[in-house]
Amino acid sequence: MKIEEIYQLYLNSNNVSTDTRTIEPNDIYFALKGDNFDGNKFCKQALEKGAKYCIVDNKEGLLNDHCILVSNTLDTLQKLATHHRITLNIPIVALTGSNGKTTTKELINEVLSQEYQTSATKGNLNNHIGVPLTLLKMTSATEIGIVEMGANHANEIAFLCNIALPDYGVITNFGKAHLEGFGSIEGVIKAKSELYNHLKENNKTIFINTDDLVQITQTKGYNNIVSFNNETISFLECQPYVSVSYQNTKIDSKLTGKYNYTNIAIAIAIGNHFKVSLNNIKHAIENYTPSNNRSQLIKKGDNTILLDAYNANPTSMKAALENFHQIKHENKILFLGDMFELGKDSDFEHQAIISYLDNNSFAEVFLTGKNFHKTSHTDKSINTFDSFESLKVFLETKKFNNAYILIKGSRGMALERIIDLI
Ligand code: ATP
Ligand code: MG
Repeated sequence: MKIEEIYQLYLNSNNVSTDTRTIEPNDIYFALKGDNFDGNKFCKQALEKGAKYCIVDNKEGLLNDHCILVSNTLDTLQKLATHHRITLNIPIVALTGSNGKTTTKELINEVLSQEYQTSATKGNLNNHIGVPLTLLKMTSATEIGIVEMGANHANEIAFLCNIALPDYGVITNFGKAHLEGFGSIEGVIKAKSELYNHLKENNKTIFINTDDLVQITQTKGYNNIVSFNNETISFLECQPYVSVSYQNTKIDSKLTGKYNYTNIAIAIAIGNHFKVSLNNIKHAIENYTPSNNRSQLIKKGDNTILLDAYNANPTSMKAALENFHQIKHENKILFLGDMFELGKDSDFEHQAIISYLDNNSFAEVFLTGKNFHKTSHTDKSINTFDSFESLKVFLETKKFNNAYILIKGSRGMALERIIDLI
């Protein structure tokens, strides 16, 4: 069946579903294959739950004439998304980067949705399946689409750009994330720059911080660039929330961490480009509160906890430590967990965090995980635990009073569990 015909089926359906556990009546079900499952095997269930059509790539899924056999379901989903995107013909803003994609995406969405009907990536659906699903959620009422793109290997961003065909793009930052897949920081820069390459080749708009402008080769000699810097959007303070100044107006965010300045600045620059009023930009940023353990501030007894346990890599860890270091408080405590997916750089990067801690004092430091446990350190305030369980045992007898506590580690460490233990 041609993509145009499948598009008609999509238009006649409610939502696109790839999961029979959450499928709703009249959805169109795409039977995808994962490492551990084959969606073709779930068509019966999809139909029983009211799926209007099933797109399958195995005869096993061909149960009745509402099931359509294609050569590759994933490829069909991606092509359908591009077809829809072209049909809608609306501006698409794409963003990638090592850190801050979801936060920046949500800030951009808050700002633009003040004056436009927007549709943005839900949560973290930013891969080769999430991007098509994000596009297929957009409707004829959508005026601007906002798409988060994630990657842990070269060529993935280029691939996602060919699906989403963005008109505007921003790279939040280049950092030491997913080094296992990218090989090195140079590999990260090259891979993220695939977004700028795509925009440049298609004469589309690049949003970029002036400081980065000089470093990124794709932007050299290219005119279709909107740039901003600390002079146009100024960082004011972070005690502990970031405040910025823009066009003589102070904007007080509810985001902690100085690194959020750039995320906020990008959202302001995009809002300004799309002519959102200053009042609305201010309102949107001041009302956005992060969720999911991303830079959240929690009060517990007389302790203040900066919970940043959503994820960690060397760049975001360093940014969080530098931010925490400049916060004025006498009893600052650190709980850090291992950083994952660093491949051969893992030992070096964990040791680099120790060097930072040796040179910048905190009242007490608790490091958890096998990687931190094998580092060497001389500072007496540093304690290491080889597992969360041993940290837990230690915390049973430990009390904190009037402390300012930072919690950060990779997702696999799930350090938010500490909250209940202090
Ligand atoms: P993922 O790769 O999981 O999709 P992401 O890029 O979407 O992550 P966020 O979820 O927005 O990133 O933020 C994750 C964490 O990264 C934050 O809690 C914060 O610690 C850190 N972070 C956010 N923005 C920046 C930034 N601009 N520079 C460095 N670290 C940042
Ligand atoms: Mg994300």
